[in-house]
Amino acid sequence: MNQTPINVTRSSMPDFEEYCSEIRELWDTRFLTNMGSKHLQLEKELKTYLNTPNITLFTNGHLALENIITAMGLHGEIITSPFTFASTTHAIVRCGCTPVFCDINPVDYTIDVTKIEPLITEKTVAILPIHVYGNLCDIEAIEAIAKRHSLKVIYDAAHTFGETRNGISSANFGDASMFSFHATKVFHTIEGGAVCYADDTLKTKLNDLKNFGIHGPESVPDVGGNAKLNEFCAAMGLCNLRHLEGEIEKRRQVYDRYLSLLSGVSGIRLNQIQPGVHSNYGYFPVVFDGYRYSRDEVFDLLASENIIARKYFYPITNAFDCYKGIPGFDPSSTPVARHIAEHTLCLPMFADLSLSDVERICSLILR
Ligand SMILES: *Cc1c(COP(=O)(O)O)cnc(C)c1O
Repeated sequence: MNQTPINVTRSSMPDFEEYCSEIRELWDTRFLTNMGSKHLQLEKELKTYLNTPNITLFTNGHLALENIITAMGLHGEIITSPFTFASTTHAIVRCGCTPVFCDINPVDYTIDVTKIEPLITEKTVAILPIHVYGNLCDIEAIEAIAKRHSLKVIYDAAHTFGETRNGISSANFGDASMFSFHATKVFHTIEGGAVCYADDTLKTKLNDLKNFGIHGPESVPDVGGNAKLNEFCAAMGLCNLRHLEGEIEKRRQVYDRYLSLLSGVSGIRLNQIQPGVHSNYGYFPVVFDGYRYSRDEVFDLLASENIIARKYFYPITNAFDCYKGIPGFDPSSTPVARHIAEHTLCLPMFADLSLSDVERICSLILR
């Protein structure tokens, strides 16, 4: 066994002293949550960073997604794809809607826009596509379909924080975009998340929903929950945001080294950054298809050297145990997603990953 394990990801953190000075005033104010000064400041700074008209913070990305579905008043079928994290599909189901699974395309693993329209019925209310590994969906095609059929579009943008395409922020596509600030993400607040949205009138509703539906001391217009981002998490976000560009630059170097070592190997397919996209280098997925080792063999080989890659996303969400036997949840209905899920491995990718470790990982794969 090799020395210290290398995990698929490792959280970025500010200097201890920087975080301490960020939270010091909380010992004076004793204002620890309920949209305090750190929360409000982070909201303001993220709005600027993402260059977006409206943003509301949440305890995590998942609750941001549940709350935007609720705030939009969606009831019915929502077209989505199963090549995603558990959160996307569960949010639809937990909000009382029905996910309708569309396959993905084999090029960038986002929803296959040629397969959306046949799935639309009179019950369809929205499309909830996922930007995968930093690859943006076919925004224009999805917008055209949504316009034709009067559907809402909510993006799961957890993988595209800070990305732009042709200068446009990934926060500004569709009616809304959800971001996750989980500890494993490019930008994090330990736990946290946000939704960005076009319709200003959703702001009050979202703020009420995340605070038990309470609008004023004697006014409770909504059946809300509790999804407020606390001051300690917001403070971590304020610190991390200061260092984000540097962290992304370090990720870019890791990405470039992987690319130069694994490019052009038969049976190994690497993810291409899309034209015009300013990437955040969040993930390094590799498709092992026709390579001399299968995906699972590569996973085991790396694990034997204490390098923990991640089968991500696997299994696809329409194959989850909790949905077994429910009509519409059938992995064979999305064969491309199933195939990619069975052949993809996300290699370790984080800002502090040393280039010599990248070389070691690649030589293990190539031996
Ligand atoms: C991380 C992630 C989520 C969930 O975000 P949390 O902040 O952990 O709740 C949802 N969708 C995708 C694609 C993710 O990667």
